[in-house]
Amino acid sequence: MKTDTTLRNYIGGEWVSSSALQHLDVVNPATAEPMCRVPLSTAKEVDNAARAAAAAFVQWRRTPPTERIQYLFKLKNLLEENLDDLARTITMECGKTLAESKGEMRRAIENVEVACGIPTLLQGDISEDIASGIDEMMIRQPVGVCAVIAPFNFPAMISFWFMPYSIACGNTYVVKPSEKVPMTMQKVFDLLHQIGLPKGAVNLVNGAKETVDAILDHPEIRAISFVGSTPVARYIYSRATANGKRAQCHGGAKNPIVVLPDADLSTTTNITTDSAFGCAGQRCLAASVAITVGEARRIFTEAIAEAAAKRVVGYGLDTGVEMGPVISAQSKTRIESLIQQGADEGAKVLVDGRNARIPHYERGFFVKPTILQDVKPRSEIARTEIFGPVLSLIHADTIDDAIAIVNSSAHGNMACLFTTSGAAARKFRYEAQVGNIGINLGVAAPMAFFPFSGWKESFFGDLHGQGKHSVEFFTQTKVVVERWPKDWSRKF
Ligand code: NAD
Repeated sequence: MKTDTTLRNYIGGEWVSSSALQHLDVVNPATAEPMCRVPLSTAKEVDNAARAAAAAFVQWRRTPPTERIQYLFKLKNLLEENLDDLARTITMECGKTLAESKGEMRRAIENVEVACGIPTLLQGDISEDIASGIDEMMIRQPVGVCAVIAPFNFPAMISFWFMPYSIACGNTYVVKPSEKVPMTMQKVFDLLHQIGLPKGAVNLVNGAKETVDAILDHPEIRAISFVGSTPVARYIYSRATANGKRAQCHGGAKNPIVVLPDADLSTTTNITTDSAFGCAGQRCLAASVAITVGEARRIFTEAIAEAAAKRVVGYGLDTGVEMGPVISAQSKTRIESLIQQGADEGAKVLVDGRNARIPHYERGFFVKPTILQDVKPRSEIARTEIFGPVLSLIHADTIDDAIAIVNSSAHGNMACLFTTSGAAARKFRYEAQVGNIGINLGVAAPMAFFPFSGWKESFFGDLHGQGKHSVEFFTQTKVVVERWPKDWSRKF
């Protein structure tokens, strides 16, 4: 792709050039080089997409679910065939390693596979003879036009938490990717074009705040799925619901892992390193706080510091690289200033990833793995989402103290426990106030057939992305009560 290429929108079954006056460069975070330009589409373009989707909805909702999922089977095959190319694009625009990008694509495909089960998942309920000769049933019907507003850190996967389910349920769709990583969705929509969906069934509108606001205010758009930072999640939830829409808004995170003295040290260290520094810490399920209990403190601190310092940092397309850059120069500056803030609050910078210089990629936005030791649970650094490769170490005397620290967080996305004790694991699972729990796991990412949960400031709404929650979110229930007089049967 040439650097002066401007990405297009996909509306009503066609690629269309945007009439936007404003554009942003899409920058490779490892090289700092612009790769293309993304338009910040206008409200008029959102209107075109919403109208195209509304027009397509009339026939699409009448298409039997068994027929609708045939498109998804084709999409799955095309995604498999193009997996390497899509993964390279993710690495180029988002910075994660090629292996991480392939893992992201696997998760995206998994959601298409689960959505292929919609004919079964859509089955309704019926009660016969609620009174003599009267039957009552509950059926599910699609909501209408739905939309996703996605974050930068998973350019493919996040839209797939929602889009396949939504269209399989009979809705039509609008995707608004992150303006920082819009290239992957261009490729995905090329594939969606190839599977021959009816015109308007899926639409792509690039842009930023103005585009999002137009989506939130558009009367034809009935349901919004959002994933991103907490302040924006809160904003989107309140504006969407004030406009009478359904909304499910996944927000930010500050995920703790708790290490008990009986945990297996090498497994715990390896898993925590991957969790904290995988995707350069830019995962909503990244461990960002490690709470050591009792004796675990000394041995875990030494082991994690050694593992962090050894992590190979570089361009995600290069062989042997274990961690890529963060998304932007602004993000690098922000992360480095938060590390300084941690130090100013009294933490020791045990491993310092600031001022990283990667040979051949001197202009890239790299922050190396960083460990802050003796972080105070109430300090700002222990509470703020850093969204970078920084792990804060906190100490607790008992598991109860550790759980109290976990539960004092404003966020509630994930918490993990490392232990060999079943009783401790059960206590943690029961008491931790978060939506996703990992036991001896560092990234407790639910499979596509489970909802991707999230509590407190990590989620606004009721029904989460993925699995059966998607069927609930993307359908509305209708209850029908029927009486057929008994003597009518004499006519036959
Ligand atoms: P972000 O909130 O900045 O942006 C997300 C989307 O919202 C983008 O499409 C962007 O264009 C739009 N947006 C941004 N500001 C807006 C505004 N003021 N008004 C309207 N729309 C706006 O998030 P990000 O930086 O792209 O992604 C990182 C964040 O996403 C982190 O906080 C991370 O924890 C979170 N995240 C959460 C989950 C989860 O499952 N809970 C998953 C992935 C990422």
